[in-house]
Amino acid sequence: MKVYGRANRDDQGGGIFIKCDGCRGTVLRKAVEERMQTCPECGFHFRITWQDRVRWHFDPDSFIETNAGLESADPLGFVADKSYRRKLWEDQRATGLRDAVATGSARIEGRTVAAAIMDFRFIGGSMGGVVGEKIARCVETAAGLGCPFISFAASGGARMQEGAFSLMQMVKTAAAVRRFQDGGGLYISVMTDPTTGGVLASFASLGDVIIAEPGALIRFAGARVIREAIKHDLPEGFQKSEDLLERGFLDAVVPRTALKKTIATAMSHLKGPAA
Ligand SMILES: [Zn+2]
Repeated sequence: MKVYGRANRDDQGGGIFIKCDGCRGTVLRKAVEERMQTCPECGFHFRITWQDRVRWHFDPDSFIETNAGLESADPLGFVADKSYRRKLWEDQRATGLRDAVATGSARIEGRTVAAAIMDFRFIGGSMGGVVGEKIARCVETAAGLGCPFISFAASGGARMQEGAFSLMQMVKTAAAVRRFQDGGGLYISVMTDPTTGGVLASFASLGDVIIAEPGALIRFAGARVIREAIKHDLPEGFQKSEDLLERGFLDAVVPRTALKKTIATAMSHLKGPAA
């Protein structure tokens, strides 16, 4: 199993120990893996791949991926330090995805769900045209199946390489969710580290139930921008999931190891028999 994100700076050798960015301690890799990539000492949640979420949050072999072939057309012909097409190609190879979200149907404790799982490794989990389209289609799949829609957000926000086309995805996904909820659909949103920008400001905030993983960064604008705007120091824990729970923005902060059970319980309270 790969450990990456903030964990893997000291991890290139794939050794027995890894460094935890939560407690700064050195912990047994195996112990971290056994706890779904969370630290046995401090509970720090490492970022994980979409494949791990499929494995840990859904019933075995129940995930059926949909719209896997959708791929960005690079509408602006964007080039920065490297071309957008090149970046897409590299991240496709790294993640096994064509873009930053995997969508499909699955089962959670026997109940059918439609699910969207973002992967931060793919251009920072940013939302361009393909992510927006796949999310909207996934919501429509949930409506078609008469089952809940579950999203796992992990995103740096809108994708600058697609400019205004990215911003349009906020409207598209929000409208799809609204239509679904107006029809009686149940939407459970899970925010993971990080959930920011245009993803936070659209579908991720629209769940009937909104859950976050512990310690997740959840924000629209960066702390530095806010500090400069208000000319004040920011409190400890600012923009972390625990703080947002306190302020009523979230319904619960749930450790990764308890997420599946919590989602199943929420579904059984809020909906009748499985679809
Ligand atoms: Zn730790």
